Amino acid sequence: MLVVQKYGGSSVADAARIKHVAARVIRRLREGDQVVVVVSAMGDTTDELIKLAYSVADDPAPRELDMLLSTGEQMSVALLAMAMRAQGQEAVGLTGHQAGIFTRAHYGSGRISRVEADRVRAELAAGRVPIIAGFQGTTEEMEIVTLGRGASDTTAVALAVALGAGRCENCKDVTGIYTTDPRIEPRARQLKDITYEEMLELATQGSQVMHNRAVELASVYGLPVLVTSSMVDAPGTLIHGESELEERNRVRGIAHDIDVAKITVRQVPDRPGVAAHIFEPLAEAGISVDTIVQNASDHSLTDLTFTIARQDLKRAEALMPSICAAVGAPDYSANGGLGKVSIVGVGIQTAHGYAARMFRVLFDAGINIELITTSEIRLTCIIAAERVPDAVRALHSAFELETPE
Ligand code: ASP
Ligand code: MG
Repeated sequence: MLVVQKYGGSSVADAARIKHVAARVIRRLREGDQVVVVVSAMGDTTDELIKLAYSVADDPAPRELDMLLSTGEQMSVALLAMAMRAQGQEAVGLTGHQAGIFTRAHYGSGRISRVEADRVRAELAAGRVPIIAGFQGTTEEMEIVTLGRGASDTTAVALAVALGAGRCENCKDVTGIYTTDPRIEPRARQLKDITYEEMLELATQGSQVMHNRAVELASVYGLPVLVTSSMVDAPGTLIHGESELEERNRVRGIAHDIDVAKITVRQVPDRPGVAAHIFEPLAEAGISVDTIVQNASDHSLTDLTFTIARQDLKRAEALMPSICAAVGAPDYSANGGLGKVSIVGVGIQTAHGYAARMFRVLFDAGINIELITTSEIRLTCIIAAERVPDAVRALHSAFELETPE
C-alpha cells in the first residue's frame, strides 16, 4: 500500500527524534509499503521565526513572512532526508514547489488548488523516499505561499489524494483522538475510530488534534486518515466514513473552548436588513461570528446575540457604536468571559433525550447556560469560561465515555 505519513513539529523537534522518524519510515518500507513523508518545522520553529520577523519590523510584509516561514519546513525535509540516507535509505527532500503543490490566493492563508505529483511519483519509482515540506505551496506566479498555522496536515491529505494513497497517517506526539481533552478529564479514552463529521466538529469546536481543512479534504475524497503516535507503537484512531449508527453510544466525544465572547445588541427595530447591517462590518474587519441568536420580537423590537473569539472582542467593540447607530439600537452589551462545551456524535439529533440529558447534567452541576446551538451531530452550550472544565467532566461521566466500546 502507498501511505503518506505526516510528522508534526514535536516529532522532529531535535536530531534524535529526526533519526527516530527516519528509522520508523525505513521499518515501514521493509514491511512492504511505499511511503511518502510530509513534515512540519522542527518544534517551535514557526513561532520563533514569526517572533524574529516582528523583531525587525512592526508589520512585516506578508510575502517576506511566507518566504521566512517556509524555511522552517525546508530545514526539516533536508535533515530527515540526510538522516535516512545515513541509515542506508535513498531519500529526497522537496519543497512544496518542487513537489508540485499549487496554491491560490493570500500569503499566510493559501489554499491548495492542485497537486502535480509527477516529480513525487518519479522519485518513488526510482526508489527514493520523497520527503515533502508541509504548510507551503506555490502560486501560478511561482510565489511561495504558506497555508495557515497547522496546515501541514492539509498538505499530507492533499498529497495522499493526488497520489491515490491507501491512507494518510498523521504521526504525532499523542497516540490518537480522545473522547475529550485528557488534561481536563484523565479518564478520557482513546477512540478506535471516528467519522469525518464527528472529527470535524471536534476539530472546529476546539480539540486541536488535527487541522480542520485536512479533515474536510479527507472527507470529500473518502481518504482514511490514521492519527497515531510517532514515538510509540500504539494502534491510533482511524478517521473514516463509516459508523455503526445503531449499536454504540451516540456521543463520541466532548469538545470545549474557553475563549468565547458574546455581544448582545439590544432593542433592535425588527425590520429587513438589520442582520446585514450588523454582520457586514464585522465580516469586513475579518471577525468571524460563530453562534447567532435572534429573539422573537416583542413590540417590533428584538435582541440579537452573537458570539466571536475572545481575541476579536476589542476590535468588535470598536465597531459596535456605529453598528448600533446604523440599525437604530440604543445599546449593546458584551461578555468576554465565556466558553463552550459540546457533545458530538452522529445521530444525537435524531435520538431521543440527548439534549435533555445534557441540560440536566449542567443544571445538576449548577452551571448556567447562556446560549444553546445545535448541528446535526452536535449540541453546544455556551457557559461561563471558568465552568468549562467542570462541565466537560460532568458530561464525560454522564454519557459514560470512559466505558470502552
Ligand atoms: N509549522 C507550521 C505551524 O507551526 C505548520 C504545521 O506545523 O503544520 O503552524
Ligand atoms: Mg508547527
